[in-house]
Amino acid sequence: MKAKILLIEDNPQNRYLARFMLEQRGHDISEAETGPLGLEMAAKILPDLILLDIQLPGMDGHAVARMLKSDPILRTIPIVAVTSYAMAGDRERGLASGAEGYIEKPIDPESFVAEVERFLHLPEQESAS
Ligand code: MN
Repeated sequence: MKAKILLIEDNPQNRYLARFMLEQRGHDISEAETGPLGLEMAAKILPDLILLDIQLPGMDGHAVARMLKSDPILRTIPIVAVTSYAMAGDRERGLASGAEGYIEKPIDPESFVAEVERFLHLPEQESAS
């Protein structure tokens, strides 16, 4: 189950760790360090899943998720929001912005890959007309 995964995350160490763990499972990882670059790359590579950091400088993850979900093509890509447990309310806001899933930082190496892979075979989103 090799997937194309886009990682939108501004912290290089977090990108390195996520890439390392997901590549070990055979996934194909692309990286973007800002929201606008992430949107551009999503349109270009049409990933199977987007891992989206919520705390991004400039355009934050909520804004990125809303942009993705307002695009007729990109809206079908599952988004897993990644944010710190300490940021109360981020989970609800993330889901409200359109993310299908949510993973807490710091990333737990024991469960991270399994959590991401849970979102790779989602049924088609029911269209919001
Ligand atoms: Mn961040």
